Amino acid sequence: MTLKHTVKTRRFIEENHDACTLCGKEFQNHDRTHLGYTKSQKLIYVGDCCSENLKETIIRHSYQNRPYEIPSKETVLWRFMDFTKFVSLLSSQSLFFTRADRFEDPFEGAKGIKKNKTKWNKYYLEFFEQSYKNPPDGVDFNKSDSEIRKEAKRLLKQLDEGGKSDLKLTFINCWHENPFESEAMWKLYTKNMSEGIAIQTTYDKLYRALNRNPSISIGSINYIDYSNRFEGINESFWFKRRSFEHEKEVRAIYKNFKADSKFGIPMNVNIKTLINKLYVSPTAQDWFIDVLKDTLEKHKLKKKIHRSSIFVEPFH
Ligand SMILES: [Zn+2]
Repeated sequence: MTLKHTVKTRRFIEENHDACTLCGKEFQNHDRTHLGYTKSQKLIYVGDCCSENLKETIIRHSYQNRPYEIPSKETVLWRFMDFTKFVSLLSSQSLFFTRADRFEDPFEGAKGIKKNKTKWNKYYLEFFEQSYKNPPDGVDFNKSDSEIRKEAKRLLKQLDEGGKSDLKLTFINCWHENPFESEAMWKLYTKNMSEGIAIQTTYDKLYRALNRNPSISIGSINYIDYSNRFEGINESFWFKRRSFEHEKEVRAIYKNFKADSKFGIPMNVNIKTLINKLYVSPTAQDWFIDVLKDTLEKHKLKKKIHRSSIFVEPFH
């Protein structure tokens, strides 16, 4: 038996993130959690409540709530795209995760608004100073006040630099949550609507199509007013300004600290699992649907093409 922390064991934590797998007790922030094996080699992720059942431990964590909500399994998600992007998806069998600083929104990954930066600086300087002044039991930093002040400034600088480099190490793939089709999204996300395509999937299908990858987090965006708040260091990619609320975005985030990619990273995806339904836009012409049918056949993809019903004509 190996005690390595593998994709399988990391996935086990992600899929049992919030509660003890033996007694079901929900974890609270800062609870100690343990991943390991029982005597009978069953993999468990438990709190101190059940840690006596561990024969061997792989890793211990301090529990933290996720900074985002995971949608329910059946939540309907849409991705609108032009035909060329769709063809690229099929032939590469991958979803493109865009590097965070390549999005147009300058608030992508932002911690707050510039005007409030001095408040942020003050908060973290105090936080670092207090951490030095009140070390954990048994630790003595043995530093003078001025040394602590200097060290806190250094850590703040590191934090600022980290925020900027994070933008180049974070990769995002966006979806629109909606039980129905949305006319606005056709217009927003396709350059030429009559040659646009929409993939409809669900949260669960997207998760499985990405191979239940424990390095990819999928969750809903929170829309907030930045004027009177900050986002934490690990949370900023789950927040956007209120003016984006109509996007009802669910995003998949992949962080790779070794990434060296200018625009983004293609992540393997199982297309058959991913596509629940395929829609062409309300203004699609017959020739376009024929081309699409040929393309699906070429990739041995048996999916029915639905014509959008948004623009069906009314009578008065
Ligand atoms: Zn327990």
